[in-house]
Amino acid sequence: TVTSSQQAIHLEDRYGAHNYHPLPVVLSRGEGVYLWDVEGKKYFDFLSAYSAVNQGHCHPRIKDAMIEQAGTLTLTSRAFYNDMLGPFEKYITEYFGFDMVLPMNTGAEGVETALKLARKWGYEKKGVAENQAKIIVAENNFHGRTTTIISFSNDANARKSFGPFTEGFIRIPYNNIAALEEALKIDGVVGFLVEPIQGEAGVYVPSEDFIRKSKEACAKNNVLFIADEIQTGVARTGSLLAVCGNCTCQGHCERQETYTKPDILILGKALSGGFYPVSAVLADRSVMEVIKPGQHGSTFGGNPLGAKVAMTALEVVRDEKLALNARKLGKLFRERMQRVVDKYPIAKLVRGKGLLNAVVINDSPESTTAWDICVKLAENGLLAKPTHGNIIRFAPPLVMTEEQLHECCDIIEKVIAEF
Ligand code: PLP
Repeated sequence: TVTSSQQAIHLEDRYGAHNYHPLPVVLSRGEGVYLWDVEGKKYFDFLSAYSAVNQGHCHPRIKDAMIEQAGTLTLTSRAFYNDMLGPFEKYITEYFGFDMVLPMNTGAEGVETALKLARKWGYEKKGVAENQAKIIVAENNFHGRTTTIISFSNDANARKSFGPFTEGFIRIPYNNIAALEEALKIDGVVGFLVEPIQGEAGVYVPSEDFIRKSKEACAKNNVLFIADEIQTGVARTGSLLAVCGNCTCQGHCERQETYTKPDILILGKALSGGFYPVSAVLADRSVMEVIKPGQHGSTFGGNPLGAKVAMTALEVVRDEKLALNARKLGKLFRERMQRVVDKYPIAKLVRGKGLLNAVVINDSPESTTAWDICVKLAENGLLAKPTHGNIIRFAPPLVMTEEQLHECCDIIEKVIAEF
């Protein structure tokens, strides 16, 4: 067993592939909004495992559900039915207001599933000529790491030396309805895949009406509007989904003036509260029915352990009103950070929605300033990570209290003042 951070870092460095560049902190325990390192130092978590632990670390209710199910039945494969999948499918579809769900494991698998679904729908329902289907995506998107998904990324580092790539994607600027309308005229377009807020790109929040207008433009052209809410969904942005707009209800509702229903909704990460990989693709019957036995699947997708964990994780979100807390604390966070931005020139701006926020550091994207600030934040007991050079994402678990948030803002202000 590991007894020091240095030892753990050495082991990862020596025996693990170097596909990440972590901050030099080795974590060994988590509870709620807190994490502890191997030496027992306590931190506020401001990353939430890229928004996968919205419910807080080791949530006792999800833990109990997981332990109980782990001692009952964990995996059957889909060769047989299991007694947890049906109840989970009913629960999640009613929760988000869709006819049907296709369960997978990771976010990238959810995205792959949505792409396959959209293509098949295009050929079988829209009448697109075989192999001619096209899917519109946005500049600076992040949807995962598979070969097809990086095929439509424009992140050079994510793509270099991984070709040849999958064809059939059209990239347009994010938050640009005119460009979308133009692209929708291209022959064979079956879907528009988009993040309602671009997380990895640096928490880019589009114009208020971007989502609604995107869906309208897609509908007019008989094209599927596909929302990747893997990072933004499950209460993170202050409503149940980012496509809920400013709706404050804790579940799916029909308030069309704020809610935009995607034709395909992709969820992952916080769907299981950080306990177990569970992703889901939701759609209505007219779309989902194109997938037939043998055409798609996964050994672990829809397993009873994941089903039970995800159902409980969603119950926690609703019962603890996490969307409302994210909304309230998010406002507070941006107000406090705006004062920091006004006071210290090294902080350029703050943006975000709910508890998905970013502070842009006033230095060149190639500089290490954001990284250096994050190292100093860690020394002061707060864990955050730079994304794309000089942007720091701040996304704590949604179970945080107002008092804790103020304490965190004090830490961030103190550290920024030192730069
Ligand atoms: N889509 C979005 C918007 C994401 O933020 C992520 C992960 O950061 C993914 C997809 C990929 O999810 P996973 O890492 O579980 O494959």
